[in-house]
Amino acid sequence: MEKLTKILQKDNLTKEDIVFLLSLEEPESIEMLRSYAYNIMRANVGEYVYLRGLIEFSNICVNDCYYCGIRKSNRNIKRYTLESDEILECARFAAQNGYGSIVLQSGERRDPQFIDYICRIIEEIKSTTKSENLPNGLGITLCVGEQTYATYKKFFEAGAHRYLLRIETTNPSLFARIHPADISFEKRMECLFYLKEIGFQVGTGVMIGLPTQTVEDLANDLWFFKELDADMIGMGPYIVHRDTPFNIYEKYFLENKRKIYLMSLKMIAVARILLKDVNIASTTALQALYPLGREEGLRFGANVVMPLLTPSSYRRNYILYDGKPCVDEFTNDCGECLISRIEKIHRPIGFDNWGDSLHFKKKH
Ligand code: SAH
Repeated sequence: MEKLTKILQKDNLTKEDIVFLLSLEEPESIEMLRSYAYNIMRANVGEYVYLRGLIEFSNICVNDCYYCGIRKSNRNIKRYTLESDEILECARFAAQNGYGSIVLQSGERRDPQFIDYICRIIEEIKSTTKSENLPNGLGITLCVGEQTYATYKKFFEAGAHRYLLRIETTNPSLFARIHPADISFEKRMECLFYLKEIGFQVGTGVMIGLPTQTVEDLANDLWFFKELDADMIGMGPYIVHRDTPFNIYEKYFLENKRKIYLMSLKMIAVARILLKDVNIASTTALQALYPLGREEGLRFGANVVMPLLTPSSYRRNYILYDGKPCVDEFTNDCGECLISRIEKIHRPIGFDNWGDSLHFKKKH
């Protein structure tokens, strides 16, 4: 406890301090970390929770990541791409319900038809969601993987202003073990720098609890977020998907579930302490491990949630990991449910607000 108090009083954490914080196990110590992170959040970004309606608009993917349920080789799902009308309907729903922002997420494709389709959708969403409450239309975050500089630039010019691209892990050899040879760590890094240079608010993150991943790896991940000067963080537990090559880790995963869940919460808290004024998402995968996981993420210092907006009939084909919640519900239920969950933990909600990263705003 004494050591913990000392570390929390420091202005600048060392990597060793971060390892110490991530290794805490006593419930009282974890609670102390949590409440400290919460206060840092309150002081730097306030208690508001911002909503990003998540539209998983296509599950077609050219990649074959060993952990991911929508990998190219998974033949047990039906591949789909939403029509533009369907996407626009989700976007209008988000705007009308005060969400302020949406995330457009999909599997990875780099062909010109797909890129043009995304640009057109962004433009249409922008022009059809302008209102008194949202004079510049919905805020749009993209999450469509690795693309060229020119493509990122097109997306930005079309009106998307935030981009999420997880590094997945900053340990290059672990990165190589979880991806096929055609996905490179260097390329992923390069993409993050392109996105920054173009002027996006850039979000990154990692999976927590990957087989062989160590506490030192996770401390390095947090350190990397700081060095990259990321504006947004989205991290979550790694969860086994049965139709992937990594289903061999099911036993490891089941045995370590509780540990992985707690580590994910500690990662949010330490990210908040280290990065202070960035936006941090409490991700859906937390709720897959524990029914109140997303609320817990908010209590550990996160300030963003992503209610699922994907039309319900498509949801069962966009399952990245087993046990994903909200898969059988109706489109509008997710928002209502999440909003009432947030209200239950007494957090105000930033309706009709883009809820941009304060960290980014201070730089520009
Ligand atoms: N193709 C896009 C987005 C889709 S996947 C992209 O590459 O950015 C979005 C995120 O889901 C990934 O970055 C990964 O971190 C996470 N994910 C995939 N499979 C997962 C699993 N089995 N458990 C937990 N998270 C997973």
